[in-house]
Amino acid sequence: VLEQIEAVEGDVHAYVTLKDKEKVLKKAEEIQAKIDAGELDGPLAGVPVAVKDNMCTEGVLTTCSSKILSNFKPTYTAEAVKNLEKAGAVIIGKTNMDEFAMGSTTETSAYGVTRNPWDLEHVPGGSSGGSCAAVAAGECLFALGSDTGGSIRQPSSFCGVTGLKPTYGTVSRYGLIAYGSSLDQIGPVAKDVTDCATILEAIASYDKKDSTSVKREDYDFTSALVDDVKGMRIGIPRDYFGEGLDPEVKEAILAAAKVLEEKGAIVEEFDLSLVEYAIPAYYVIACAEASSNLARFDGVKYGYRAKDYEGLHNMYKKTRSEGFGAEVKRRIMLGSFVLSSGYYDAYYLKALRTKALIKKAFDKAFEKYDVILGPAAPNTAPKIGDSLSDPLKMYLGDIYTISVNLAGLPGMSVPCGRDAKGLPIGLQLIGDCFKEKNIIRAAYAYE
Ligand code: GLN
Repeated sequence: VLEQIEAVEGDVHAYVTLKDKEKVLKKAEEIQAKIDAGELDGPLAGVPVAVKDNMCTEGVLTTCSSKILSNFKPTYTAEAVKNLEKAGAVIIGKTNMDEFAMGSTTETSAYGVTRNPWDLEHVPGGSSGGSCAAVAAGECLFALGSDTGGSIRQPSSFCGVTGLKPTYGTVSRYGLIAYGSSLDQIGPVAKDVTDCATILEAIASYDKKDSTSVKREDYDFTSALVDDVKGMRIGIPRDYFGEGLDPEVKEAILAAAKVLEEKGAIVEEFDLSLVEYAIPAYYVIACAEASSNLARFDGVKYGYRAKDYEGLHNMYKKTRSEGFGAEVKRRIMLGSFVLSSGYYDAYYLKALRTKALIKKAFDKAFEKYDVILGPAAPNTAPKIGDSLSDPLKMYLGDIYTISVNLAGLPGMSVPCGRDAKGLPIGLQLIGDCFKEKNIIRAAYAYE
């Protein structure tokens, strides 16, 4: 992996921070010694992993790809990362992302763009673009990403890797720098379904330090790695195949559904209403939460502080003006607006009601189906520079992923072919809450 990083990182730029090579090798040796002594065992022992740069790592830069955290070294490690360390995984670096996970291309990073390893002219998707590009380029064996509205699934789809967003509450958010706290989840990005299930088994845990952590009964996700979908009920939302979906993506998704049908699954189309309201509801809720979460970055407690200022308010203003990028500022303003007096009911409350209705629509669908199948994104990876000029268009690209976060459901993206340019296409499988095993089983059988 270290050799591969040396060979391709100059082109791909998947990492914001790479740990010192000697230290990484020393860690690997320590783990090998433990394995030899019979003190450590398990599938992740000694495996090199990359971590998205919005997860705290003690003593190691954690920037959220923002200037405002350019010098931030946390004093503690995120619970999910700790779980990986316990399993013996070796952290080799922190991956690039859209600033504070706001974006779909990894272009809003303050530290330069990450390039799609399949075609360096194209974006890797986002916001976990660095993690997905690192896995696709062999610059680690797996990575952690975070998904607030699709940030694991969409870049996995663009980079031809497998990514899983668990049910809300399954992986601890302790040490994950918050974007939209009611939507954020950490999950694995890996080469295949087996790896994803194995990693999820290691990182999922009940954690009382995260007030929304859920104590689950089943953490045995790898038990779903059985090649059998006979009788599994799979629903395809008609609403996912309307306007805006690239015909090549559509064809690949329907072909994937056929594969599962031929293996014995019962596949049928159905109407999943309210999909069109998911984008406005998501952007209201995510921005509202972000505007509150990002209030802590004021130059006092963390990271960057402006140099020349007069008095406290001017220091706040200058620090935030200089420290945040354009997309983050746009969202703080949108969020502050929808939460402001007089607008709260009209926007924020309405968005919360929409969220509840979307959850209800999924509940109804899962009375009939074990898995919902569709695309992860309406298109394959766009060219670098094509997305940022029109934020609204970029937001519309999240159409298939964000309702999953609004409803707290698990979702997965699995590679299912490539377009005429050779760029990967991702199949999305969505399960009911706490039913990761259903999507893992379907994904494994498909793969
Ligand atoms: N693209 C979405 C956004 O910009 C989702 C990002 C995410 O999941 N972190 O908000």
